[in-house]
Amino acid sequence: MSKSEVLFMDDRAYGSSTSLVAKALHLFDEAKLDECIDKDDYVVIKAHLGEWNSTAYLRPVYIRAIVDKVKQLGGRPFVVETTTLPYTPFCFRTNAWDLYMTSERNGFNSGTVGCPVICGDGFLGTDDVRVDLPEGYILKEQYVATAVACADAMITLSHFKGHPWGVFGGAIKNVGVGCASKRGKYNLHMGAHPVIGLQTMEYIPGYCDGRECPKWEICNTMCPEGALVVPEKGPIEFIQELCKGCTTHQMQTVDCGAFANLKLLDWFEATCVAIADSALACMKTFEKGKVGFINFALDISPWCDCIVYTDRPIIPNMGLFASKDPVAIDRACLDKAAQSIAMPGSVADERDVGAGKAKFASSGSFLGISEDIQCNVGEAIGLGSKDYELKTIEPMESAKPTFLHQQPAGFILRRFYKKIHPVPKEGFKRVEEPDLQKVR
Ligand code: SF4
Repeated sequence: MSKSEVLFMDDRAYGSSTSLVAKALHLFDEAKLDECIDKDDYVVIKAHLGEWNSTAYLRPVYIRAIVDKVKQLGGRPFVVETTTLPYTPFCFRTNAWDLYMTSERNGFNSGTVGCPVICGDGFLGTDDVRVDLPEGYILKEQYVATAVACADAMITLSHFKGHPWGVFGGAIKNVGVGCASKRGKYNLHMGAHPVIGLQTMEYIPGYCDGRECPKWEICNTMCPEGALVVPEKGPIEFIQELCKGCTTHQMQTVDCGAFANLKLLDWFEATCVAIADSALACMKTFEKGKVGFINFALDISPWCDCIVYTDRPIIPNMGLFASKDPVAIDRACLDKAAQSIAMPGSVADERDVGAGKAKFASSGSFLGISEDIQCNVGEAIGLGSKDYELKTIEPMESAKPTFLHQQPAGFILRRFYKKIHPVPKEGFKRVEEPDLQKVR
């Protein structure tokens, strides 16, 4: 079997042809992602549009540049994001209204990206398509957002970074989690899995201070099922039969210890497996060869864009990767990250995860889970191949494709200056020989 091709350009820029936007477009061409798109195709541009107050998500300009490229190819692009579970008490993408408010605050709307921005799974995350998944390692069915399942092609633009649960987030996670509906996210996060999910958490009410705790009102209101109640007197009450496994309370109760999940490691590892399963379900909604991937390994924060803050990157920027294989591109990113030094003062630095060490197992996941699971499972179920050939691509010679005009700015200004000129006829009033020595 031949190796999957992964193309790479670093993050250094020393002119217009090496801007990261120019490199993204150049990699799109070099990786032949244009082959994914036929004229009049509806093309999903899948990107993570960030959480409220997270700051490392992809800048809108990368998305706009690829949207324009898809239009040039005759496609009909639309940016898709999906609703989430309430992973923590405060997250702001759990319905379409919240998602649009958060995305727009983060800079994503039709005006900035140049095409519709769509909540792909409907107002509440139930607009989806069920996909049978006999190949799945754990998931035997999955629910894919309708807007994704209906599309003809997809270009996946992924911010490559760490993730507390998935260990890292790249192409597989952007597709596996980001293209799943809310129903699909309940399925893949497995909070209600009978053997490894939250149902197995040990409930230790003695650790809860009840209404004496400053956070009691959050605990009393965070559960969408009303399964957690802090009574007038006594500790929190857990009505287990009501729990649907939304995962919200696991982080909220970490500090007090009112819930101890003895199988947390198994649960998190199983979720890494399910992310790859879910990615395969999504890919099955497309014809072969209709999905392309670009990973932006920039601002490589230890945790993902789904949380309401962003920590210092764990390693320096690596650059951009492109491929038609989601497993190969993520494997290539992980391998390159392992070669990197740790960013001074970062979590990776504090934990001494320097060059030659797997970065995300120790600084992405707080449990130390293997960062290989997503790719290992991805290969095992036929999502892609870990065997890749990394090709470094030279910058393009011409900077033309990334310019707004192909004429120099002076040429354009010439005609305006004939009518109005910003320089006064009599010149500016200024000191002729200023004493620069004084201010050095
Ligand atoms: S009890 Fe269940 S449904 Fe309620 S917040 Fe916790 S995980 Fe979610």
